[in-house]
Amino acid sequence: LVRTARASSTGPGRTADGHPVALLANIGSARDLTGDVEGVGLFRTELLYLDHADPPSEQEQVAAYTAVFSALPGRKVVVRTLDAGADKPLPFLRQAPEPNPALGVRGLRVARRDPGVLATQLAAIATAAAACEAEVWVMAPMVATAAEAAEFTAACRAHGLPAAGVMIEVPAAALRAGAILRDADFLSLGTNDLSQYTFAADRMCGDLAELLDPWQPALISLIAACAAAGLEAGKPVGVCGESAADPGFALVLAGLGISSLSMAPRSIPAVREALAAHTLEECRRIAKAALAADTPEAARRALQKTI
Ligand code: PEP
Ligand code: MG
Repeated sequence: LVRTARASSTGPGRTADGHPVALLANIGSARDLTGDVEGVGLFRTELLYLDHADPPSEQEQVAAYTAVFSALPGRKVVVRTLDAGADKPLPFLRQAPEPNPALGVRGLRVARRDPGVLATQLAAIATAAAACEAEVWVMAPMVATAAEAAEFTAACRAHGLPAAGVMIEVPAAALRAGAILRDADFLSLGTNDLSQYTFAADRMCGDLAELLDPWQPALISLIAACAAAGLEAGKPVGVCGESAADPGFALVLAGLGISSLSMAPRSIPAVREALAAHTLEECRRIAKAALAADTPEAARRALQKTI
């Protein structure tokens, strides 16, 4: 029930007074690129290889990444390195079953055990990026500490990749966002996993939907802390979890200082229209009210009262 501005359902994301909030697409391959997007905020590369018994070769990866980069000349593409684990298995990683897969060796943690897979992927991304005009950023999933972030950004730089960041999906990383930004060029908040780990609530469990509601005060507080760290460091902080696709919540995120929102392409028009109907000052007021609320219901009511 947010106010919308119909006239602006194409073009870049902006508040009513022109403050830019990039509206980017979440994709799994070049096939998901539909319509005219500002760019890609989350390229889930693992989805390309879910049925691969053998590791994808560097050339095979270069071809897949080139297909995406070449479709977006002059636009941003944020590539996430393989996000796999016992809960999202890639057959070629040959991971043993784990008692708690969501808490096991997944995301960047796989690279510790198997550094060759990350090195090959970074080399392929760098080769594809060099041959295209897209603005390629690279980020790692499931980072928990500033030391892990520093190790990852160093690996990216060694491959000549100029924009290296991390996803914030683990509360420990959100609490140390400022320290992570000493090395990382940007943060992207994966609010699906950040909710799961903050509330100790399996994201696949429908019975726990109440805890996984993005309007939960604890999640909003963590997002606010990361956004503030980004503003202080002068570095971009985006959101690429499902929460970015909620038009009302997008106003909260813009008001907190989040600089880009990435979502399924079909969700972009509604978020664009909501942003276009509110000034940045209104978004800030909405964010302040949401931050002060003690329950998700109160945060939603605060939005209705503020707009
Ligand atoms: C997230 O966790 O919010 C996210 C965007 O990554 P995925 O949904 O692929 O885990
Ligand atoms: Mg995630």
